Amino acid sequence: MKINKKQTPMKEQPPEVRKHNFNEVPLGYSKEEAILEASRCLQCPTHPCIDGCPVHINIPGFIKAIRENNMQLAIDIIHQSNSLPAVTGRVCPQEDQCQAVCVMGKIGDPVAIGRLERYVADWDLDNRRKGEFKLPKKEKPNGKRVAIVGSGPSGLACAGDLIKKGYDVTIFEGFHKTGGVLVYGIPEFRLPKSIVHEEINLLEKLGIKIVTDVLIGRTMTIPELLNNGFDAVFIGAGAGLPRFMHIPGENLAGIYSANEFLTRVNLMKAYKFPEYDTPIKKAKRVAVIGGGNVAMDSARTALRLGAEHVYLIYRRSRKEMPAREEEIYHAEEEGIEFNLLTNPVRYIGDERGFVKSAECIKMQLGEKDASGRRRPIPIEGSEFTIDVDQVIVAIGTTPNPIIPRTTAGLKTGRHGTIWADENGATSVKGVFAGGDIVTGAATVITAMGAGRKAADSIDKYLRGKL
Ligand code: FAD
Ligand code: SF4
Ligand code: SF4
Repeated sequence: MKINKKQTPMKEQPPEVRKHNFNEVPLGYSKEEAILEASRCLQCPTHPCIDGCPVHINIPGFIKAIRENNMQLAIDIIHQSNSLPAVTGRVCPQEDQCQAVCVMGKIGDPVAIGRLERYVADWDLDNRRKGEFKLPKKEKPNGKRVAIVGSGPSGLACAGDLIKKGYDVTIFEGFHKTGGVLVYGIPEFRLPKSIVHEEINLLEKLGIKIVTDVLIGRTMTIPELLNNGFDAVFIGAGAGLPRFMHIPGENLAGIYSANEFLTRVNLMKAYKFPEYDTPIKKAKRVAVIGGGNVAMDSARTALRLGAEHVYLIYRRSRKEMPAREEEIYHAEEEGIEFNLLTNPVRYIGDERGFVKSAECIKMQLGEKDASGRRRPIPIEGSEFTIDVDQVIVAIGTTPNPIIPRTTAGLKTGRHGTIWADENGATSVKGVFAGGDIVTGAATVITAMGAGRKAADSIDKYLRGKL
């Protein structure tokens, strides 16, 4: 049989339409398209794709099941390693992970593993909506209690594994909504919130308790949790503290961190003000600083809020941009104006203290720096200004120090991350950690993998085997 070298395309909203709405951009495969794409998999005996996936999903196994139109088997295989496939199928950087090492990539396009994962996960969600669904099996209650700090992917994955092992699990979440960055960071047009909520509902049906509006380190501390009946704690509090450039004018009104901007829009529905009571400035000319996924999400969100010009300002070249290729491509298609090899040096305000322009400088690339990328160097005398009425700074985040500050003996690492060993154990007995709070800002699937690893270690620890 002749194998198609090209990936089966996925339908998406056209750029001219989608830039005016918050609906999801890619529309997913039909069953026929999924089976067609699955038939491109070579079922390689060495299956490098499995090693490319941070949680080692049996990729050829689930793809074979799709090819044989056995979607139940496909989802069962995926669920053995991944509890949030509808999320990862949409947002995983597949091109750098499972698909990067797919053998088909040597002769054509790699198999569209992420799209196939999404198809099967959506099939499963549809079944659940129709009530055609059995809850996963759970071991008998073992009388031990575990507290999870944070309801992002690491906390949810850890909680999901522990509840199935018979533990009494309570998640404490600082915000009023659960899901972490999946709900307050990644916008609706990339990851519909309803999908995240359906996954969380399933965990609640399994018996996980979720307490929102509780900030650990303020309302209660980690030592207090351990002294009040919890046998172990998992910290999955993420890295939500924004970084700034500390340049003149950065405190002017109209300049937001990407975190604040996206949280207001995603979680507090600021785009529906005054129907929802959190306001946001609907600007006409917006500058977004940065080149990662967060910058792309901010730029595309600003566009959907009605901006006429959105400038993306990034100090390196397109090649060094850390954002997913698909997000860069989508942003370009929607008309985001890329100002590459450019950096802001100061912001200028009007008489009311609102930002009115950004002074930028052109950059050139020098030698490689510690990150392995070529260091950007300012070109003297190349300064120019861009008129803007809003700036969104998306240059990275670090963990909030509130938990280390209130937990005696908790060792920290670079940029305030929490130190944990290969089992996810921290320097405090009974306290485990994983996800962005340990690694610094990373990905959904690595955070989930860390949550699952810690669940395994907590289980061993509470059975006296660690
Ligand atoms: P988080 O998701 O940050 O969750 C931590 C949770 O803990 C939050 O709900 C927070 O409110 C809560 N919390 C914090 N402190 C406390 C406390 N003291 N007490 C109680 N609760 C607390 N990754 C990808 O793989 N693909 C993408 O396309 C992608 N896009 C992204 C876009 C944006 C805008 C952002 C910000 C990130 C993106 N990421 C992406 C990264 C990914 O979302 C994160 O790596 C992942 O969510 C980390 O999971 P986590 O569980 O460690 O933390
Ligand atoms: Fe690929 Fe991510 Fe799915 Fe793993 S979880 S198979 S890396 S898309
Ligand atoms: Fe299929 Fe690619 Fe994995 Fe080979 S490497 S088994 S072609 S997905």
